[in-house]
Amino acid sequence: AQVFNFSAGPAMLPVEVLRQAQQELCDWQGLGTSVMEISHRSKEFIQVAETAEQDLRDLLKIPENYKVLFSHGGARAQFSAVPLNLLGDNNQADYIDGGYWAHSAIEEAQKYCSPNAIDVKTQIDGLSGIKPMKDWVLNDKSAYVHYCPNETIGGIAIDEQPDFGDKVVVADLSSTILSRPMDVSRYGVIYAGAQKNIGPAGITVIIVREDLLGKARKETPSILDYTVLNECDSMFNTPPTFAWYLSGLVFKWLKAQGGLIEIGRRNQEKAAHLYDFVDRSDFYRNGIAPANRSWMNVPFQLADGNLDKVFLEESKSAGLHALKGHRVLGGMRASLYNAMPLAGVQALTAFMADFERRHG
Ligand code: PLP
Repeated sequence: AQVFNFSAGPAMLPVEVLRQAQQELCDWQGLGTSVMEISHRSKEFIQVAETAEQDLRDLLKIPENYKVLFSHGGARAQFSAVPLNLLGDNNQADYIDGGYWAHSAIEEAQKYCSPNAIDVKTQIDGLSGIKPMKDWVLNDKSAYVHYCPNETIGGIAIDEQPDFGDKVVVADLSSTILSRPMDVSRYGVIYAGAQKNIGPAGITVIIVREDLLGKARKETPSILDYTVLNECDSMFNTPPTFAWYLSGLVFKWLKAQGGLIEIGRRNQEKAAHLYDFVDRSDFYRNGIAPANRSWMNVPFQLADGNLDKVFLEESKSAGLHALKGHRVLGGMRASLYNAMPLAGVQALTAFMADFERRHG
């Protein structure tokens, strides 16, 4: 039977991409070897790297004055790289605290500066929400403002577009990049771990406005230094070549689906299908204010938490995998990244309805 994988990351990849990778695994481009066995400096791999960058640029409409870097270390390495690269002589940066990941970035930044933590969490009609951006009080003297537009664990999204004048805006887009069109020009730095909408774990995408290069503190490890990475075309050391190649296949797949306008349409439809179902039921509940509901990560609770275990066992048997909520939150969470088809979400709500009939 078909399996739908709702994991928050590493997450489901498009099956077409996996099949292509499987087909090419031992003999890539007629070389008689795998792409993961060749030099990152070979002309064949450089072609992979350049094509991946161009496709990502096309998808996100990245302006020319932005550099695209591919790196190791996941998003957490960027929690250090951002202050090291952007603070310069400044000791202050604004950090919006909207949830678990934004908070983790603050804790890491404390090693390098005094982050101004700005708590934007609020309650709206008894539901968890985020204060509107106009109420975010930023500091004139801070080097940048960092925020996380999609909190993967809490399922809280900030969809409002940032507009803070000259302030450099840095965004952790790990769980929402490529889920819909966006305006890159509003940001100074965007970063994302790959393991949700980009590809397998092990590679990180960084998009940095070029005027922000050249400011890294001198103690910055070279592998985290955006200027060094840029000068070496992201090949300062051996990059995660196989993950880079697979990410490139995902970018081609996204283009073939119709790009981010079409993907955004599908993602909205998928999320609406699940939220509508949860809202109509007294048996399931989502505690996030409608304006801040994530399209990518949908947490939900059963009215009777004692049923969690049997829900997880039965859903797994029905081919609906990885619905367990994050350990810090409990309950359930369905992640609906790009590779999840609407049919997967429909299968989930059909199961949930049946479960409610039997246990409600
Ligand atoms: N930021 C967000 C929004 C995430 O969802 C995650 C992981 O799930 C991270 C950061 C940490 O990413 P990594 O494990 O790639 O360091």
